Amino acid sequence: MSAVLPISIQTDEIVSYNPASGAEVGRVQQTSTDEVVAAVTRSREVFHKWKLTSFSERKRLVMKAREVILAEMDDIAHLISAESGKPFGEAIAMEIAPVLDLMQFFARKSEKMLAPKRVGIGLYSLLGRSSKIVYHPLGAVGIIPAWNFPFSIPLGEAVMALMAGNTVVIKPSELTSLIGLRIGEIFTKAGFPDGAVQIVTGDGRAGAALVDAAPDKIMFTGSVTTGKKIAEAAAKNLTSVVLELGGKDPMIVFEDANLELASSAAVWGAFCNSGQACSSVERLYAQESIADELTRKIVEKTKDLKQGGGEREDVSIGAMSSERQIRIVEDHVEDFRAAGAKVETGGRRNPELEGLFYEPTVITNAYNDMRGMQEETFGPTLPIATFRTEEEAIKLANDSEFGLTASVWTRDYAKGKRVAERIEAGSVCVNEVLYTHGIGQTPWGGFKNSGRGRTHGREGLMELVQPQHIHINRIAILPDAWWMPYSTEAVKTFRGFAKYFASGSVFQTTRLLPQLWKRIKELL
Ligand code: NAD
Repeated sequence: MSAVLPISIQTDEIVSYNPASGAEVGRVQQTSTDEVVAAVTRSREVFHKWKLTSFSERKRLVMKAREVILAEMDDIAHLISAESGKPFGEAIAMEIAPVLDLMQFFARKSEKMLAPKRVGIGLYSLLGRSSKIVYHPLGAVGIIPAWNFPFSIPLGEAVMALMAGNTVVIKPSELTSLIGLRIGEIFTKAGFPDGAVQIVTGDGRAGAALVDAAPDKIMFTGSVTTGKKIAEAAAKNLTSVVLELGGKDPMIVFEDANLELASSAAVWGAFCNSGQACSSVERLYAQESIADELTRKIVEKTKDLKQGGGEREDVSIGAMSSERQIRIVEDHVEDFRAAGAKVETGGRRNPELEGLFYEPTVITNAYNDMRGMQEETFGPTLPIATFRTEEEAIKLANDSEFGLTASVWTRDYAKGKRVAERIEAGSVCVNEVLYTHGIGQTPWGGFKNSGRGRTHGREGLMELVQPQHIHINRIAILPDAWWMPYSTEAVKTFRGFAKYFASGSVFQTTRLLPQLWKRIKELL
């Protein structure tokens, strides 16, 4: 019988358990509302100094933080594994390695990406005007992450915010508070000024307090339900919010795909982190002619996977993070069974293991009207449905409230790109799966209910600054024709502006010159 873990959240203390063994990993205090408000106030004070630091100083500190992580890599990976249940190796591959890459990228490139930019202003430049955009940091940025990538997501977002000149308050998930605190220690060891990065701990109450404290931006990762609550609370202070929410990501496999590769990709894409990745493959659509062969390969490969405690290096499937999450998986699998789908392998808690282990589960005869094909499962399940035509595959893939990522498998790259562009999702891979969150250089975010705004890439960095337009008139010797007082000549000139100048054509605009001169003389 698998262990049911005790409720870990108490009023003022949070006990962190290893979901694989039930052993206590540590405990932290719930940060009070007053303390959260104080953290945001302090963050703003420190911001006024931090924003004046040079990019090279910020880069030096971020690169130092990388060194701290590299020196403590195994220890950090063990903590991630112990608190979240994922295999130790996966903590390195899927969290530490990608965030180290993100750190070096933004340390080196932020200055260039945020350098002032001249923008073309069309015919206004003929009037001796020019425009440039200067990027200013926002202030104190509140980061509220989920538990599933508890190290890489908040750390990566914090580094981007800091490189842009902001300070940061992180409220880690209550299931992974110790990893959150470890992130704070890394910044301290690297030599960041006191208060540049603060960690407040607690459950949704601390998260809500952080939103109500009106930081200058909220970066939220989590469920649609909480995302909506945060958007509503943030609106009261007009706090702008980036929402990284759930997914129900489709994988389409065409009959001309490399089935050996596609089957291995489906297994990794569905079961990595026990399926608890926002970009996990949650629906597989196989073209009818190859569905049986693909399914056979997937089932064989799934049966070969070892499940167990995350500290073992040969374990591929670890524990799930919480009892609540495993119950959602059980509910969806039961619903599939009741609706007539077939469980090919798995479909139960692992009877040989204590702790929160659900067997990797492959399901066939799935249809889009089944609940497990619509609601996010966030567990180790891979339901397989079939399609006949390209058009049908696109329709099935887009039949979802979510749109985070998707993947298309074919040897015909033109078809792959064509299909990718018609799928409603923030990232679509052709012959790849799941891992693009790890590419810090590219924007990350969802269409539809999968989110608002972006993290990562230039687009993500732009979420953390406010653009300022500086407009200069280099021949400030004459009044503008649109200034007061108005007159009949003025109105004639305005008509000319509408007809000729606003056409964008220099040739047309020359027709306005005599009238313009009359008007200017009138103003002198
Ligand atoms: P969750 O919404 O329950 O919690 C997320 C965070 O919000 C936690 O830190 C929690 O303490 C906090 N929180 C809860 N109530 C709050 C409130 N009222 N105000 C402020 N903060 C509050 O989500 P979860 O179960 O931790 O994470 C799973 C979800 O996250 C899945 O839906 C998954 O797809 C999504 N996710 C998305 C991405 C992405 O990049 N799109 C990445 C990882 C996870």
